[in-house]
Amino acid sequence: MAGKKPDQAAVAARIPAGATLAQVRRLAADCKACGLWRNATQTVFGEGAERPAVMLIGEQPGNQEDLQGRPFVGPAGRVLDRALEAAGIGRDAVYITNAVKHFKWTRKGKLRIHQKPSAQEIEACRPWLDAEIALTRPKVVVCLGATAAQAMLGSKFRLTHHRGEFFSIAQKPPVTATVHPSAVLRAPTDEERHAMTQQLIDDLKVVARKLRKVGP
Ligand code: SF4
Repeated sequence: MAGKKPDQAAVAARIPAGATLAQVRRLAADCKACGLWRNATQTVFGEGAERPAVMLIGEQPGNQEDLQGRPFVGPAGRVLDRALEAAGIGRDAVYITNAVKHFKWTRKGKLRIHQKPSAQEIEACRPWLDAEIALTRPKVVVCLGATAAQAMLGSKFRLTHHRGEFFSIAQKPPVTATVHPSAVLRAPTDEERHAMTQQLIDDLKVVARKLRKVGP
C-alpha cells in the first residue's frame, strides 16, 4: 500500500489546545498523516460514553467498521458485546476506539483482508488516541490485543505474559490488556475459541472489579 511517510507531528499540530472531543473527531475525519487513508473508506473515530468508566482500544477498524464508519460494529463487535455483558459492564459505560483510525487491508479475491498496521502508522495516529483519552477521562483503559497493548505499554509488552494485569502510566488511567475479539473469531478450533472467549470475559470481570474499587 503506497503512501506518505507517517507523520505524528502533523497530527499533533492539528489538535488545538482546548479542543472538544467533537472538534477532534471532525479534524480526524480528513487526516492524511500516513498513507492508510488512501485505501480506506473513511476515518473511524471512537464513540461511546462522554465520561466512560472504561475505554476499550482495539487495533484498527475492520471491513464492516470501514464501511459503516463506526468502531466494533462487525462480527468482532458482537463477540465483544457478549463478553461485556457476561462481565457485567454495560455498553453505556464504555467508550470504544482503535489505536489506528483507518482500515489497512489487502485484496484477496473479492475479500479485503486485514493487514497489521506498522509501528510508524500506529505512532502517527497516536495523538488522536491521546486526545480521546484526555477528553473522555476513562477510569480504566483496556487494550484489546497486542497491537493496542504495545501502542499503550511499549513494544516489549507481551500479551501472553501480562494479560489481565494493570499498569500505571504517567498522566493516564490504569491500563490493562486482554485478547482481541477478532482473535477469538480466528481461533482454529471450537475448544480454543471457547477458551479465548473465557479469557476475554475473565479479564473484563477483573476490570469490573477494578472499577468497583476505583469508585464513581
Ligand atoms: S491512520 Fe491515523 S494517522 Fe494515518 S491517516 Fe488515518 S487517522 Fe491519520
